[in-house]
Amino acid sequence: MSQISTQLIHHPYVPPAGFAAPQPGVYKASTVFFSNTAAMRTREWKDKSGYTYGLHGTPTTFLLEERLCALEGGLQCLLAPSGLAAISTVALALLKTGDEVLLPDNAYGPNKALAEGELLAWGITHQFYDAMDPADLARKIGARTRLVWLEAAGSVTMEFPDLREQMRICRERKVTAALDNTWGAGLAFHPFDLAGDGSGSLAVDISVQALTKYPSGGGDVLMGSIVTRDRSLHMKIKLTHMRLGLGVAANDTETVLRSLPSIELRYRAQDASARELARWCQTRPEIVQVLHPALADSPGHAHWQALCRRDAGGAASLFSVIFDARYHRAQVDAFCDALRLFKLGYSWGGPISLVVPYELQSMRSKWPAHLAHGSLVRLAIGLEAAADLQADLTQALQAMA
Ligand SMILES: *Cc1c(COP(=O)(O)O)cnc(C)c1O
Repeated sequence: MSQISTQLIHHPYVPPAGFAAPQPGVYKASTVFFSNTAAMRTREWKDKSGYTYGLHGTPTTFLLEERLCALEGGLQCLLAPSGLAAISTVALALLKTGDEVLLPDNAYGPNKALAEGELLAWGITHQFYDAMDPADLARKIGARTRLVWLEAAGSVTMEFPDLREQMRICRERKVTAALDNTWGAGLAFHPFDLAGDGSGSLAVDISVQALTKYPSGGGDVLMGSIVTRDRSLHMKIKLTHMRLGLGVAANDTETVLRSLPSIELRYRAQDASARELARWCQTRPEIVQVLHPALADSPGHAHWQALCRRDAGGAASLFSVIFDARYHRAQVDAFCDALRLFKLGYSWGGPISLVVPYELQSMRSKWPAHLAHGSLVRLAIGLEAAADLQADLTQALQAMA
């Protein structure tokens, strides 16, 4: 067992006197009492030395923030009501009219939609760069660029970028870089130590996660986090977070705290099953391409190898398959509909395996040259036995043909 699991289990939580139990308390509050007016006037909401109002933090939310810093190697953390709310909070905190934001063309779709919607309407422009071509990122950073989003692996098509080179470029050009670290979850690689030498010389500025995925692990909670290692950057985002009035529910926070001790075990087990099934999919004649960064011929495999743990626990349990172009959409839909254990549904990181057919044409500026033509389906592997999932895929492929 690596250090992180032990750390996540043995946390510095101090239980109420006389009640030492494994799980921390669930503290609910809007109102917090002050003992007198002097205390009310002097207590500071911006630091964690005391409590002022439920929206500004409770012992339960402070504890989860501290746990997530341990997971990702960060120093400050903010919780948001969803992964997407964490993403939009970063954008609203750092961008103003006249600025530009850069996103990889394979970014999480709703992050691109935010850039094309509200941000553009407020006079904040964007460009999509090729995640697999650092020179394209370097070319697109201009005098107005204030924020660069990074994502590894890319959404749906799973390309693994050269994160170190991308980060080096952002450093050199003095642009703030925010990573959507939902896939890595703080486990596959260290976002604040991309160089891997403990120096922190190559660290992202901001790591955002959808806690909705592995940290919740149940498919039943929506939450996001924004982790940093720079107090002034954290405070800038925190002020926006406060003005937007973003809060998270105590019971949801407790659910994530309860799931965190098993996150590494779950991530590793789901990764092992996903790799086994991805390799099996490669042997199927119906499928022309399997996209999973741990597969040797998947786009960016060498970058994945250079950055991530190679054994189980080095990748999220997600992969996409492209069906031979001779199968038209109705047949691929029939495959998805025929699955019994895999459920049709969004999200991932929970116990139940999920499947989603994607319309890639509408999601990318152009069809990526490294992808075969055909219908794409993404599979998210849960905690079921891999052999049962393989049998399910087999019968659905038969139903399709
Ligand atoms: C799910 C997801 C999000 C958004 O999380 P929600 O909690 O569903 O809003 C953001 N980024 C990535 C990569 C995700 O997979």
